[in-house]
Amino acid sequence: MANVTLSGLKKSFGAVHIIPDLNLEIADKEFVVLVGPSGCGKTTALRMIAGLEESSGGAIRIGERDVTSLRPGLRNVAMVFQNYALYPHMNVAANIGYGMKARGEKPGAIQAAVAKAAKIVALDKLLERRPKELSGGQRQRVAIARALVRDPDVFLFDEPLSNLDAKLRVEMRTEIRKLHRDLQATMVYVTHDQVEAMTLADRVVVMNGGRIEQAADPMTLYARPANVFVAGFIGAPSMNFVTVTVANGPDGPQLSLPGGALLSPPEAFRAALSARLGQAVTLGIRPEHVLEDPAHPQLQMQIDTVETLGAHRLLIGSVAGGAFTAQVPAASMATEGGTLGMALDLLHLHLFDAGTSLSLLGAE
Ligand code: ATP
Repeated sequence: MANVTLSGLKKSFGAVHIIPDLNLEIADKEFVVLVGPSGCGKTTALRMIAGLEESSGGAIRIGERDVTSLRPGLRNVAMVFQNYALYPHMNVAANIGYGMKARGEKPGAIQAAVAKAAKIVALDKLLERRPKELSGGQRQRVAIARALVRDPDVFLFDEPLSNLDAKLRVEMRTEIRKLHRDLQATMVYVTHDQVEAMTLADRVVVMNGGRIEQAADPMTLYARPANVFVAGFIGAPSMNFVTVTVANGPDGPQLSLPGGALLSPPEAFRAALSARLGQAVTLGIRPEHVLEDPAHPQLQMQIDTVETLGAHRLLIGSVAGGAFTAQVPAASMATEGGTLGMALDLLHLHLFDAGTSLSLLGAE
């Protein structure tokens, strides 16, 4: 197994620069997930690692080897695609062993490798079936087994679960995580689903417009997003943003909220806020960190919709004209069409520069 290094990697399609300058070091045995909105360049980046897409500049190293201009078959990577790409007329065993057979390997070696891979993904009882006799999850496992028999340096996954229904996705997610643990392999996985990214990854790379916005372990991304984009992308429902003004209070800077309430920010923000007296900053608060508090309201929320989810309720509406969501206990008395006083859990407050959108806590 091996580490993967992308240095100044570039990709243009004609005059359009999809990836201007990508730099990423993926450690040996690491599970890295590339996540970002549609069109951000994550699939292109993965395909460049696989050699399926030529890079327009920069270098790709796998272990000690510079593979930038090697053809795909020589890179020793295996890719699992979204649309499994199974041969319908071949049974499971033949599909798994197809690549080995094409390379002219001996039948005995193929059979042994197929049996081993099929066992890992629990398909060993289904080797005679054809793809149409399998469920979606089983087909995806055939595609994974086909990657396993190659014993690659790096596994690449391109949205492998996006064709599965919600329940199967969750099951297969667990299986892929387990596979990583058992194989101790380097894996690079592309998805646009931030929940998948958070649950699978050792490290999540959040991409936007061909650039890396932040690369960090899931908890750091959640608790210390580097900018407004990451803060809004990671977490479901999304973080709320409210524009507030930095006021000069008797004991240091305070935040003046829409509606006039004044908040004393946590100590960690004081220096950054003192340099911004009188200026606007962007306050971020996740729905799960908003508290219903009619007695001491800091913000008035206009409630448009109440979603009951069993353990809790989601209040969806607005604060000072901007969209706002709060997650409150199921016993909440909130009613659709009403207003409700809310308080913010200060331990989980985020603040961003209103111009650059960078976190006022600075980079990790
Ligand atoms: P998605 O989640 O929708 O798959 P993505 O982040 O994986 O998105 P890419 O598939 O990498 O995005 O595409 C990045 C950008 O490059 C998109 O704007 C896409 O339209 C463009 N693009 C991809 N392939 C080509 C191509 N062969 N020719 C021209 N433009 C392309």
